[in-house]
Amino acid sequence: MKNLWSDVKAAGKSDLALRVYSSNLLGQSSDLVLHGGGNTSVKSTVDTEEILFVKGSGWDLVSIKEEGFSAVKMQTLLKMAALESLSDSEMVAGQKAAMLDSSAPNPSVEAILHALIPYKFVDHTHADAIVSISNSVDGKRYIKELFPRFLIVDYIMPGFDLAHQIYKMTRGIEWESIEGIILHNHGIFTFDDSAKSAYTKMIDAVTVAENFLVENASFEIQRKFEPNECDVTKIVKHLSELKGYKVYLNINQTPLANFYASQEELVRFASRGVLTPEHIIRTKRVPLIIENGNLQESLKKYVDDYIKYFKSFATNEVMLNPAPNYMIIKNCGLISFGATQKEADIVNDIVEHTMKAVLRADKLGGYQSISLADSFAMEYWELEQIKLKKI
Ligand SMILES: [Zn+2]
Repeated sequence: MKNLWSDVKAAGKSDLALRVYSSNLLGQSSDLVLHGGGNTSVKSTVDTEEILFVKGSGWDLVSIKEEGFSAVKMQTLLKMAALESLSDSEMVAGQKAAMLDSSAPNPSVEAILHALIPYKFVDHTHADAIVSISNSVDGKRYIKELFPRFLIVDYIMPGFDLAHQIYKMTRGIEWESIEGIILHNHGIFTFDDSAKSAYTKMIDAVTVAENFLVENASFEIQRKFEPNECDVTKIVKHLSELKGYKVYLNINQTPLANFYASQEELVRFASRGVLTPEHIIRTKRVPLIIENGNLQESLKKYVDDYIKYFKSFATNEVMLNPAPNYMIIKNCGLISFGATQKEADIVNDIVEHTMKAVLRADKLGGYQSISLADSFAMEYWELEQIKLKKI
């Protein structure tokens, strides 16, 4: 992965301006973060008080500006990390009360974790190469071998649970002995007192993972068929009826999408869950897959299965619309849906990255994402759903 840092461009910048600069660099690579993914922070002092400037929820790293960061008192965040339990509403209210400017965006759901890491600059991405390896059946062994000096954390719900887990794991450790943190099935953190070094550590770690994939998990796209025409009118009609609004489509018949849609046992192959948890609010856990059956029958089955999934985990949640957000049609390609063209395009971007990861992880023995229960917890997490409402 190319290191885009320029000493000339970084020269003379304030802490926050440097934070904006390297966040934008991270955001430029869709192999690191996609559409609102990842988050960054810088610790600084305002009127002698230690403050965490952390990415505000709803901002994209590629385009974030100084006003996209929320300034939160470090002391409050560190106290929160030590609590035995903290509800989402308590976390949001507590962070809001500790913000220097309450009109700034809500701090990232990972603000407490950023505060815990005792370095000035903290970078967090959902790098494809890292999660492709982690989401393979032997992912734990590979990650351990590739990153012996990283703190490695088994999957846990983001937000307070993750922050508290890392609080417990790092009590009494020498932080100098840790080069970064890898969160299984989720992503990676790097950090340093210099913005350049935190960024460079990210690029270097992802390069290690990319090189491993080139050596061990390359796949060749074979064009197995000439793609069929997809019946677009019918798809728009039925999906719009089900969703309750006119859907826009993104039709993807690139060689990658064709190859993916031509795999054997397509239902099993393409229904193995998300690449990183927050994708679920865009894509749902699985697509609609059409192998031989007709669209209406397949849609009905998808909705029935979704309702079953919802009922088996719901406590007091209200079910989201059960219609799929994308579909894979055997020997045709990938079609993503949205209430706007932009929304459909975002789903397509996420699935493009997921398809490559699935194909690579299969070369490592098999793709394996988070459990159904963990998927549900993320899909129905209030703090994730808020993000969609802002867009
Ligand atoms: Zn994350």
